[in-house]
Amino acid sequence: MVGGVATYKHDRTYEDQSSDGIPTELKRSETFQDRLTELFGSESFEGLEPGRLDFLVDVRYVGDATIDDSVKRYLETLFRDNGIYMQWLDHPERIDEQRFLSAYGNDVRSILWSKQSFYVQEVESDLKNVALQLVVVPGRRESPHEGRVYCHFSDYLRNGWNNGWINGMNTGNRAVIGYRDSYREQARLALHEIAHLVLCHDENPSNLGVMGTQERVDLTPSEWSRFRNGLDAVRDTTGYDIALRRCSWSEYIPLERTCCG
Ligand SMILES: [Zn+2]
Repeated sequence: MVGGVATYKHDRTYEDQSSDGIPTELKRSETFQDRLTELFGSESFEGLEPGRLDFLVDVRYVGDATIDDSVKRYLETLFRDNGIYMQWLDHPERIDEQRFLSAYGNDVRSILWSKQSFYVQEVESDLKNVALQLVVVPGRRESPHEGRVYCHFSDYLRNGWNNGWINGMNTGNRAVIGYRDSYREQARLALHEIAHLVLCHDENPSNLGVMGTQERVDLTPSEWSRFRNGLDAVRDTTGYDIALRRCSWSEYIPLERTCCG
């Protein structure tokens, strides 16, 4: 494994005071902060602070897929109320749907992690390990799987759950979700896939949050605590992409479970 977690831990030049994956040096770097301000605008990007648990969510929109402003503000407030200074950063370049479909389709593998994926080819390298990339796509246009993306793991390994058509997918520091009209669904899906940066599903019926029964658009206090401690997962800590998500291996074995966000 090249560039794995050991590399960061033993790299004396890499100091991360707040353990959020954003090196302290970058938080102090005016050049880096200017670059983020220039890209995302000063209204979205509020700057980084050494010692603060900053968490950047860099959101890419395809075609007319979108997230309502009220949902963005709700999620930012929710994260900040739980001790994480989340900044929802809309990437300024909306991606043409036809171009996106011909290059990557609605397939999570070619969006998130294949060698020719959207993530590999189009996400700017200086943003990859300091922010979580969230891609919002229209998804499939035809029923019965309208608004969904295809995942061959779900198709082959989950007894063909929904023929592989899912609402969203996270592979660590990057995720994709299908567009939904409902603001509540936008918030639920976004929070679920963002939370997968650190958290797995929870089958305990008392968990009413988005990783459990999904009745509340929230996480449990213990999940928030784990999330605060796991923000450094925005860095590619495995050295190879598909293993990025901490719970992928346990979830993509053929069990009886149904899923998913
Ligand atoms: Zn999930």
